[in-house]
Amino acid sequence: MKIVTVIGARPQFIKAAAVSRVIRDRYAGQIEEILVHTGQHYDENMSQVFFDELDIPRPRYNLEISGGNHGAMTGRMLEAVENVLLQERPDWVLVYGDTNSTLAGALAAAKLHMPVAHVEAGLRSFNMRMPEEINRILADRVSSMLFCPTETAVANLRAEGITNGVHNIGDVMYDIALFYRDQARRQSKCLQKLGLAEGGFVLATCHRAENTDNLERLKGIVTALGRIAARLPVVLPLHPRTRKLLIDHDLYGMLGSVKVTEPLPFLDMVALEQAANVILTDSGGVQKEAFFYGVPCITMRDETEWVETVGTGANRLVGASASAILAAFDDAMNKTRTAIHDKPYGDGDAAGKIVALLVQ
Ligand code: UDP
Repeated sequence: MKIVTVIGARPQFIKAAAVSRVIRDRYAGQIEEILVHTGQHYDENMSQVFFDELDIPRPRYNLEISGGNHGAMTGRMLEAVENVLLQERPDWVLVYGDTNSTLAGALAAAKLHMPVAHVEAGLRSFNMRMPEEINRILADRVSSMLFCPTETAVANLRAEGITNGVHNIGDVMYDIALFYRDQARRQSKCLQKLGLAEGGFVLATCHRAENTDNLERLKGIVTALGRIAARLPVVLPLHPRTRKLLIDHDLYGMLGSVKVTEPLPFLDMVALEQAANVILTDSGGVQKEAFFYGVPCITMRDETEWVETVGTGANRLVGASASAILAAFDDAMNKTRTAIHDKPYGDGDAAGKIVALLVQ
């Protein structure tokens, strides 16, 4: 069996690592996986470092497509992915998540009548202004195998009339969290390098367009982080796009004593997540990792696709005003860490189930 996997952005490298490992370890000689890297994320610390650290096979194709408006980027990817698919003629085209690379991969395959499998199917924010929401809805619509991480995702698809090929297999990010949590604690020297004590700092990330492209929201977030940093160390591994916008809008100085770093390699990130008092984020993956590691999370968005984390009280949705973020921070600081007892994200072998279903 031949699978072409189309990936291009940081969270996709991480998710694909789980599935590629299963293919390599359990299906050697049976499945040929060909990786296509669209080039959407290309900085060394947003791309190559994940391939090295997570043992992801080398992409056979690197399309080197990044930048530009959404339409231009997706259009160029569509054409280039189509060429790859015509050459490789795979049995499955595997796509992940909700980026332009996801949509381009799914659309190119569907138009060639090649079956598409979508990992992280059925997630919805119900906010059509998010580019991610558009990408995931369209990818789901043309997929023949829909791998949902949760029952909520299955129900979302059912509400849209999609029931064929839908499987709740759990979340590949949970597989990854279980696989790397101890290794990260053992190997990462990040705490020492940044001069941080376990349980003595706050970890923050911000990169969603709804925050970075809205000056008022971006200001609210930066103000809150700057004020928190006056009380407790705050580490902010900064996404390149957010960095650029903060500089362009002259907001960088408002971060005050926040420890701004380059985007971190995965094991360093996972080590920091586990050691943080509180995590502030607008990332989908980081919200869940906070949940897996029992660290109180404040999500600087108006909605989340990962509603299970909010239901348990472990994650709070606060939007992006400085006052709301600061109030939630005070609350979270008074909270004790809670281990998760229910398992809304599966049993840690989502990747195994995905590959088994593709083979079936
Ligand atoms: N991540 C990382 N280094 C960083 C920031 C994030 O390794 O500096 C990891 C994080 O642990 C999570 C994933 O990247 O596994 C989340 O990706 P991102 O926030 O870019 O995208 P999203 O999950 O919001 O789609």
